[in-house]
Amino acid sequence: MISEQLQQIKSSLPEKVTLVAVSKTKPVEDLLEAYNTGQRIFGENKVQEMCDKHDLLPKDIEWHFIGHLQTNKVKYIAPFVALIHGVDSLKLLQEINKQGEKIKRVIPVLLQFYIAKEETKFGLSLAEAIEVLESKDAFHYCEIRGIMGMASFTENEDQVKAEFAQLKSHFDLIKSTYFKNDAFFSIVSMGMSGDYKLAIEEGSTMVRIGSSIFGSR
Ligand SMILES: *Cc1c(COP(=O)(O)O)cnc(C)c1O
Repeated sequence: MISEQLQQIKSSLPEKVTLVAVSKTKPVEDLLEAYNTGQRIFGENKVQEMCDKHDLLPKDIEWHFIGHLQTNKVKYIAPFVALIHGVDSLKLLQEINKQGEKIKRVIPVLLQFYIAKEETKFGLSLAEAIEVLESKDAFHYCEIRGIMGMASFTENEDQVKAEFAQLKSHFDLIKSTYFKNDAFFSIVSMGMSGDYKLAIEEGSTMVRIGSSIFGSR
């Protein structure tokens, strides 16, 4: 079941779009089934759960942290995390850099933007992101690879499209202003089970899909 869902979704994605299989709350058996179908990138949103699964599962898995990350927990994932999607403050970026420096590992991150019209979503405004970006050269142990965002949870497709388009325009602006010659700044992480097709139409390069692969939580 998982393997069929996964294969179906994968075959529907354009080649340049990376799939993060969001496995939060799911048992390691489910992740192994996806792994045995060829999936190597998994997304988790709890530090403890990601560490436990990292310990138990094959070492060639890329672990993406997609949740809200508390500064006091960065140290637990710093040694192995492949990408932190949710950097939403200068303070968090400073802590990631500090933990990276301790272990001499450059940690890849995305800046999370607030694009939805909902109070509950975390993320930076464009002005706040610019403040972070102005000091980015001080951070030698984290590499900003792109940006991430979540659209409003609504049936209104026009609204969702507009929010994704806004995120993509933030990416383009930041790329041309701060990372013009940096090929590593290339990721637009947007799109989940309910809206990834719209996200891809609007320029997503990385989709985070959970329930359509593993079933509802
Ligand atoms: C849970 C989660 C997803 C996946 O959501 P689905 O609707 O199950 O695909 C994607 N991104 C983030 C940040 C999440 O927390």
